[in-house]
Amino acid sequence: MRRLSGVIAIGLWCASAAAAAPEWLVNGHLIDGRNRAEAPLVDVRLEGARIAEIRPAVANAVGLDLRGAFLLPGFIDAHTHIEDPAAARRALQAGVTTARVLGDAYLKALATRDLIRHGYVDGPELLASGGHIRPRLGEPFILSFPQFGPYLETPLTGAENVRAVAEAVIARGADVLKVGASERAGLAATDPRRQELSFAEIRAVVEVATQAGLYVAAHAHDRKGANAAVRAGVRSIEHGTYLDDETLALMRQKGTFFVPTLAIMSPLGDPRGDSADAIALQLRTRAMMRPLREAVKKAHALGIPIAVGTDGDYGEGESARVRPAHEIEELVAVGFTPTEAISAATYQSARVLGIEARTGSVAVGLEADFVVVERDPRHDTSTLYEPILVLSNGRVVLNRLY
Ligand SMILES: [Zn+2]
Repeated sequence: MRRLSGVIAIGLWCASAAAAAPEWLVNGHLIDGRNRAEAPLVDVRLEGARIAEIRPAVANAVGLDLRGAFLLPGFIDAHTHIEDPAAARRALQAGVTTARVLGDAYLKALATRDLIRHGYVDGPELLASGGHIRPRLGEPFILSFPQFGPYLETPLTGAENVRAVAEAVIARGADVLKVGASERAGLAATDPRRQELSFAEIRAVVEVATQAGLYVAAHAHDRKGANAAVRAGVRSIEHGTYLDDETLALMRQKGTFFVPTLAIMSPLGDPRGDSADAIALQLRTRAMMRPLREAVKKAHALGIPIAVGTDGDYGEGESARVRPAHEIEELVAVGFTPTEAISAATYQSARVLGIEARTGSVAVGLEADFVVVERDPRHDTSTLYEPILVLSNGRVVLNRLY
């Protein structure tokens, strides 16, 4: 977050003097996000928004005293649907200092991203896709891009047509492009085992993105759709439920990331209620969890980089339920060490987003994005659900230390 300017800023700074950047965070056990097993006791010096120095803890050091609590990089949620300022604030309070938004309605995420960037709203740094490029673009997308009116009635197909949509999304300021390589799981009427865009269509999006210095994330449950997306050169497979051995081997070879969104696919993410659609989706979850867990286990064994995405919107409804801590617990349940799972939610997520040179781990020169938790998460991951201190770019955004 950047500093506010003008009259609003004066009011807020007066109201929240505690939010000013501390110079030192002292006496904290450091989990650096880079999968280091040790958690040494350290003091960390900040210079504005950056980490300036990390030293072994010194007795009686002056600063914000963490009293032996555990200091982690801020969480990076690599797959969200955060749309508005309220959701952004909620994510930040949960320790999410950076998030990627893969699909939103009416380009609200792009506007929210810009409000945060300019300091009008508190929230994680957002990178947003400005929609979801797929055969059925949907009315909210077309209301934002009325030039694609024909696709209200007709599916978007053909590499040239798909390319035109990708170019329009980039022109509106997207940071990443999202393509649909398979149908969705979260609607009773769609079949996640069915491929959506073809290899040639996805390849067209990858080419346009690459020319603009961007990359592509592929929504893919289906085996064939995921394979087409990996061959076409997407940077990440999102969900990946039915990934087969051939595609996993190809991902390993090409360095494709895997963002499995286990928690939202678990019964935890099920729609409540007993409507016919809710029940259909609850049953589907039961069928999908096992292949998804198997795919993640295999990917982990192959050394494919795996990152944490909640697929949540941090809103007020059911999709708000999942947090990075849930996904970390799911990864531990399939065989990750807690330290590896924390790395998936920090450093590996930063790598998927391409921002690991400035955040996602705790090292000198990086952004001062931190989460502090009470207990040792290497032994008790449940402590990750309730951060006691959150800093974003050196600014305290949540403080429950004392
Ligand atoms: Zn999603």
